[in-house]
Amino acid sequence: MKDYIIAGNWKMFKTVEESISFITQLDEKLGAAGHFPDDLIEVLVFPPFTSLYPVKGLSPRIKTGAQDFYFEDQGAYTGEISPLMLKNVVDYVLIGHSERRQLFHESDENINKKIKAALVHGFIPVLCIGETLEEREAGKTFARIEEQLAKDLCGLTPGEAARIVIAYEPIWAIGTGRNASPEQAQEAHAFIRKILHEKTGNPEIVRILYGGSVKPENSLAILSQNDINGVLVGGASLKVDAFSVIIENSVQLLNSSIR
Ligand code: PEP
Repeated sequence: MKDYIIAGNWKMFKTVEESISFITQLDEKLGAAGHFPDDLIEVLVFPPFTSLYPVKGLSPRIKTGAQDFYFEDQGAYTGEISPLMLKNVVDYVLIGHSERRQLFHESDENINKKIKAALVHGFIPVLCIGETLEEREAGKTFARIEEQLAKDLCGLTPGEAARIVIAYEPIWAIGTGRNASPEQAQEAHAFIRKILHEKTGNPEIVRILYGGSVKPENSLAILSQNDINGVLVGGASLKVDAFSVIIENSVQLLNSSIR
């Protein structure tokens, strides 16, 4: 039996009112289905910063995370949000999303500092990694993954590495409608698990999510793979109906593995 994280990255979408409405509706849907196995399935959303405090505590079943933060506690960093400001507001932080890497020139060095700051302040970091289309076509997928993990997790103790959630998000699959096949995703996840085994000493402990054009239609096949512990969903997490089908699929898989 395995448990799941079903996470939604809202990116730069949703006002405060829209965020409150989404969480309220999703909570009703999850509650309406009777007992929701929230001990086995973590439902998590990453709203924009402005919505984090307004949605706090709205649902006992839905956790929240920040889409990014800066690694310093405070200072002259105009426009940034610090871990101290997020304390007691969120449980998770997304770090190194490909949009931050590509559009905002986020370096592996900064990502490593953010991971360490997240751990110091008690957040669970969700580290995003993944290759470009050119790297995949050149047969460099595994080398790229290995390089990112080495740089981003540099200096972490085995215990610290074990607290991190990894999101494998091939860049060519994000927002393109073109998802990795379940087999491609499984292959990459097994490779990531092998590397994390070396770092943590325990292959089972690290949770690895797949992200990249996950939709209700492909979620069951993706979630069925052995080394996939959940999904990080962008576009399809913006609609309550689509996101809740993905959650229902994880419940279905969980129930079938219990039987
Ligand atoms: C993402 O933003 O992390 C993502 C996977 O987006 P999408 O599901 O839209 O491809």
